[in-house]
Amino acid sequence: MASVVYSWLNAANGSSQRNVINVTKGGSNAQIKFVFEDMGGSGGNIDYGLWSPPYTVKINSNGEIPWTLNTSEVPQRVDLKSLLIHELGHVFLGGGHTGYSGSCMHTFDSYAVRRSIGWCVENVTHDYYDPPKNVTLYNSFGGNGLMKVDGSQYSIPSSGKTFYWRQSNFPHTLEAVNNQNVDGYVWVFYKWVKGSSHYDNNIVVTINPPASSTVNYTANFDPTYTVNFKNSFPGVGNAGTIKVNGSTYNVTTPDFSVESGNTIAAEAPYQQYNGIYYTFSSWSAGGSNPRTFTPAVNTTYTAYYTGSLQPVTITSYSGPAGTPVVISWVPNPNNNVVYKVHRKIKHQSGTWTGPDLLATLPNTTSSYTDNGCMFTNGYTNDLIKYDIRPYYSVENISAPESWVTVFGNGTFVPKRIAIASGLLPTENSLGSYPNPC
Ligand SMILES: [Zn+2]
Repeated sequence: MASVVYSWLNAANGSSQRNVINVTKGGSNAQIKFVFEDMGGSGGNIDYGLWSPPYTVKINSNGEIPWTLNTSEVPQRVDLKSLLIHELGHVFLGGGHTGYSGSCMHTFDSYAVRRSIGWCVENVTHDYYDPPKNVTLYNSFGGNGLMKVDGSQYSIPSSGKTFYWRQSNFPHTLEAVNNQNVDGYVWVFYKWVKGSSHYDNNIVVTINPPASSTVNYTANFDPTYTVNFKNSFPGVGNAGTIKVNGSTYNVTTPDFSVESGNTIAAEAPYQQYNGIYYTFSSWSAGGSNPRTFTPAVNTTYTAYYTGSLQPVTITSYSGPAGTPVVISWVPNPNNNVVYKVHRKIKHQSGTWTGPDLLATLPNTTSSYTDNGCMFTNGYTNDLIKYDIRPYYSVENISAPESWVTVFGNGTFVPKRIAIASGLLPTENSLGSYPNPC
């Protein structure tokens, strides 16, 4: 104990002072007291010693610490002299621990022998004249992000990354890494915070040595949400187009990005897809159409639709007098669409009868021949109306009625001429033809 005190006295004052200190046991007027005291603790959670300012050094005598003065027994035992040198360092040098690992004035290491004083004095002196500053850097999103420090990129864990810089070593530059993809979001930089105060809005900032020994800087980011739009056509699923922020996109286009707090406008337009006309019904997120969305997570917005059919486009409903009536149309491209052929007849001086369903024709059909009626070149007998009505089995819907009258189209007028002209098709006998046109 005395030798440790003398070592420090030598280091602090020179050898001439050594004789003025008397080390005695139990002295009441000691200038430096060493106290063995049960300070508790067990396992790895032990205070080996304690400097109790200004001049008391406590040594833990809890019965568990295997103190030794024989350095060859370290690390199985704990070197008491290393501890005393450390604690007396607090007394003679004042202040706390140095950042130099290996120094006797680094945090006490029970597994090490640190009896050299000279280097400790250098460490502490260096710390005094050029104090180390602990600068801890964070990204506001936590997670494992990035930051550029003095031009080099570092990963920044959620617990922050600390740099130990001497005061003379400042300034340093910090650069936020914009548009980082972390935890499923793209993060957009917006400001720096020093401690808990706003610091700067520039992505690159210069930092000077802080007054205190520690400081932290946080690069603040907003998440950018990935937004996806889909249509839901009954029995078809996601197809067609959608308007986003005024432009029309296929629903299979890439996702949109929306920064937190911003909005995105969408419109589910009335549209035709594969022969079916689709009308907006509802959004998965509710609300009217068009509408503005303010996403708060990565989101898919689905527009639900209902389908409808338009009447077929008739391309021809006239022909030479005396030939069976032929109606032609543009087929619907959707192979789940069939055509239901309806007919109404009005005999001269009579009233309209029907409609009668004459046939249901497959999707690829583009004309129908009515062997029961013939064109004529003058209106002297009958008027006939036809409706080639598309039917879509997936949604069980039909087009609205749309009749063409085989009448006055060019010079041809339908007539009930089968009997008179003998042009009735051979598969129909005169006698069995119940309602010739
Ligand atoms: Zn200490």
